[in-house]
Amino acid sequence: MQTISSLEPNGKISRIKIIAMPNNLKQAQQLYIDGQWVDADEGRTFSVSNPATGNPITEVADGGEAETQRAIEAAHRAFKQWSVTPAKQRAEILKKAQQIMEERIDRIAELVVLENGKPFAEAKGEVKFALGYFGWFAEESRRMYGSLVPSPFPNKRLWVQSKPLGVVAAITPWNFPAAMMVRKIAPALAAGCTVVLKPAEDTPLTALAIAKVCHDAGVPPGVLNVIAGANPIPISAAMLNNPKVKKIAFTGSTEVGKLLMQQAAKSIKRVSFELGGNAPFIVFDDANLEVAAEEAVAIKYLRVGGQSCICANRIYVQENIAEQFIAAFIEKAKTLKLGVGFESGVQIGPMINEAARQKVHGLVEDAVSRGGRVALGGNYLTDDVYVSGCYYSPTVLLNVEDSWPICQQEIFGPVAPILTFKTEEEVIERANDISFGLAGYIYTRDLGRVIRLSEALDCGLIGVNDAAGYTHEIPFGGLKESGLGREGGKQGLEEYLEVKSVVVNFSK
Ligand code: NAD
Repeated sequence: MQTISSLEPNGKISRIKIIAMPNNLKQAQQLYIDGQWVDADEGRTFSVSNPATGNPITEVADGGEAETQRAIEAAHRAFKQWSVTPAKQRAEILKKAQQIMEERIDRIAELVVLENGKPFAEAKGEVKFALGYFGWFAEESRRMYGSLVPSPFPNKRLWVQSKPLGVVAAITPWNFPAAMMVRKIAPALAAGCTVVLKPAEDTPLTALAIAKVCHDAGVPPGVLNVIAGANPIPISAAMLNNPKVKKIAFTGSTEVGKLLMQQAAKSIKRVSFELGGNAPFIVFDDANLEVAAEEAVAIKYLRVGGQSCICANRIYVQENIAEQFIAAFIEKAKTLKLGVGFESGVQIGPMINEAARQKVHGLVEDAVSRGGRVALGGNYLTDDVYVSGCYYSPTVLLNVEDSWPICQQEIFGPVAPILTFKTEEEVIERANDISFGLAGYIYTRDLGRVIRLSEALDCGLIGVNDAAGYTHEIPFGGLKESGLGREGGKQGLEEYLEVKSVVVNFSK
């Protein structure tokens, strides 16, 4: 039985309607192991809730250690055949997955809205972006070139060749349940690896629906396995303690990344980590102010309502244009529409849960207690349509300092601290004085400054007069404590390959 909230024509939110699970997605309630849809041992299940209403959506099989071990065994068996399947054939299956996911785009996006809360248009954009990784890595898989290296010995030839790593364990977050999954499984499968994936406990339905896409596209049994579960620890322990797992691909918080890295060290597993961010958004006085304000609002509030790793966390504005910029920013932020993701025109959904909302409000209260000024928002939304979900009002904070927690921590919510600066040198130093290094944005029309800042900022992704994010063709990842390794681009495939050198003596 599924539940969904919807808006009545009078603008009021209806009490819960019962709808059927979207067609073809019924398997999204079981684990996917060795090509089969299976219940968890002893029929254990856990409840997945709609953050817009707090109501349960459905029960999902609650996998644990034993189920994960079975999935790893299946992935290990499947690796033998999949790793030697010609890349062209693997690419055809990935292209088929892209096509099927495109056909199911609306139904998968509905699941994203139900369990994650983001607006439907945004969810659909995420699914579209996610399926693009199947296409990109299908193409890249045919370009896994080796090399013939000039030899210093007349009787020897030197080859360098790549081979897939083996079984990969993937762990993904709730904020982009489709994109973070496909950005891992597409390169892994393209490279010839097999995968056991654990989605976030808040958003397992999207991952299981994508597993169904892969199944229907002809991904052989055991090549992809998905273990959902309420408790991540037994699942990740099974992954980390099993020597058959060669790599951990993780997207999530820096805190959990550090724990996983310690555990992976025991058997020197390869790791790639996409972790937390704290992006500076820097506006110089020669920028197009309207565009800068518009795009600052978008990258602050319109990606999962501020719950994205590349959201602007600190907005730095050059002193002489601060007043004008802040007025334009607040004017735009005031117009944002919050609500249930299925309602048309909604731009921001609820926060994922109460703990997330409390954390964000705690950072705002802390800033205020230190002398910060709330210029917009700063409160819970609890009236009318907002009564059942964890909504937080789009907030602007002024008079804040770099050293305060609101600037040092990843806010992960719809709160924009705006700070001012005088010089280029000063803002570079302040932007970099932090442990994170994921995204950064620069708004200026001075080419020299673009070059200097893009070289000086410690960020893995830099948007110059552009905060629309990135695309499949370029590598994405963080510096410093924001991550290790890259996803997307040609580098995304290399993360799943081992390099081997071969010395051939042909004189004997
Ligand atoms: P999280 O670290 O709490 O959880 C991420 C995943 O790890 C989930 O599947 C969760 O079940 C699992 N997990 C949690 N605790 C664990 C433990 N002790 N052992 C093993 N697994 C554990 O993060 P989240 O709240 O789901 O996601 C938000 C974070 O993810 C933010 O910090 C955000 O910046 C980051 N993120 C980064 C990127 C990127 O590309 N760099 C993208 C999206 C999200």
